Amino acid sequence: MSVIVCFIDGVGLLPTPAPPWTTAHLPSLTSLLGAVPHSNLLIDQPNLYFRAIDATLGVEGLPQSGTGHTSLWTGVNASALLGRHYPAYPAPSQRPMIAEQSLFAKVQQLGRTSLIATVHRDNYWDLVAKREQRATAAAFAAQVVDLALPATPEWRNGQAVTWDITGAYLQQWGALAGLPTISAHEAGLRLGRALRLADFVHYECYLPDFVGHRRIAETPERTLELIDSMLGALISQMQTNDSLIVVSDHGNLEMIEHTSHSRNPVPLLVVGANAQRAAKVEDISQITPLILDLLSIEI
Ligand SMILES: [Zn+2]
Repeated sequence: MSVIVCFIDGVGLLPTPAPPWTTAHLPSLTSLLGAVPHSNLLIDQPNLYFRAIDATLGVEGLPQSGTGHTSLWTGVNASALLGRHYPAYPAPSQRPMIAEQSLFAKVQQLGRTSLIATVHRDNYWDLVAKREQRATAAAFAAQVVDLALPATPEWRNGQAVTWDITGAYLQQWGALAGLPTISAHEAGLRLGRALRLADFVHYECYLPDFVGHRRIAETPERTLELIDSMLGALISQMQTNDSLIVVSDHGNLEMIEHTSHSRNPVPLLVVGANAQRAAKVEDISQITPLILDLLSIEI
């Protein structure tokens, strides 16, 4: 059995079904949930759990990815610890804590293996050293256990997925020049194959936050449709006792008339035989404990 987390950056929920959730065509999610996702939707079934969880972490202001990702991949409330939300990448002062509380180190302590499925830039750590790239919380958490970061060779070989799902937006930016793009369905199949290679698979999709900020010219609906297609293909590849966790770090995409983050709650979707273990999760700092809990269940 394996666990995969599909992180979708900047996706919040509104109190009632509303655009873009209602205007997007989401066959996988709506057939799975029997409803359009919104923050008052609660599904608590043996193989399926869905609810909105808090991303504000008890701290004023708009939640941000630096502290959000750090909270997600350490199990520590990074915003409360820092006293504020910190944007984009982890606060330098929190890097020692990320190394100490790394999700991947905790998975290793359980005797389980991890695999990162997100494509990174080639020579990522060299670029970080040269200050041409800032490292994510997941990358710092991976570094402490020497976990490999896949790059363009793995993308080419069908072993990893870019943060924009298809590679098309990265190609427009010149970041994947000359490499073929894939469908969202193929991205999901790739993540499904990764499930057979490790006990824990970690994938990060930043596309919705970029679209929410209007940094990528794509509609919120089409963005949700790509996620839906990817998740549908991934779920089709899951085996008995595999678990899928889908979670975000803060709202953004759901506020179609705004270009900034929101304090809306974010979706927590868990698919798999032990989905109801997610019932105790209240906020995004409790995702690491959930992952470890699911990995601790003996089959
Ligand atoms: Zn953002």
